Amino acid sequence: EVDELHDAVGKRIAELVGSQAAMVTAGAASALTLGTAGVLTGTDRQKVNQIPDLTGMKNEVIVQKSHRFPYDHAIRNTGVKMVEVTTRAELERAVNEKTAMLFFLNYANNHGEIKDAEFVEIGKKAGILTFNDCAADVHPVENVSKWIKMGFDLVCFSGGKALMAPQSSGLL
Ligand SMILES: *Cc1c(COP(=O)(O)O)cnc(C)c1O
Repeated sequence: EVDELHDAVGKRIAELVGSQAAMVTAGAASALTLGTAGVLTGTDRQKVNQIPDLTGMKNEVIVQKSHRFPYDHAIRNTGVKMVEVTTRAELERAVNEKTAMLFFLNYANNHGEIKDAEFVEIGKKAGILTFNDCAADVHPVENVSKWIKMGFDLVCFSGGKALMAPQSSGLL
């Protein structure tokens, strides 16, 4: 059963990288959509069926302005809107009952005022999940665990880049 294989592979990868769970996706972009969708719906079947109509659900993802990029379309596919901030104070003010997630773009770490570890700290303090897109940032190989250890709730990697897996694969 491919479903069972998929779950078993995810479980094994989670053991290897030290995360609570893992899933092989159809690329990092796919992981962005699936991870955000999971944050929005949890295991609620009705919500799973409802998205991208987010009526009555959380619908905002906060992101630093310098962390916007073309692939964030994969996040917006779930129906959320991106709320841009620049400073820590702006981010903390932007958090409200509609905030679903805080998104971080790993390669833009040095472009924004808020760096990775501080971003995690803000998320934990606010009780909002953080997602770091590390698609191409595997070398050294220990990096597959680095941002999980740092405390990000979700991270993704592209299989078609330094993981040297098939092009149309990725990890959430
Ligand atoms: C390449 C890349 C993606 C998309 O990766 P795919 O595996 O091709 O879907 C997403 N985010 C970032 C930061 C990337 O560099």
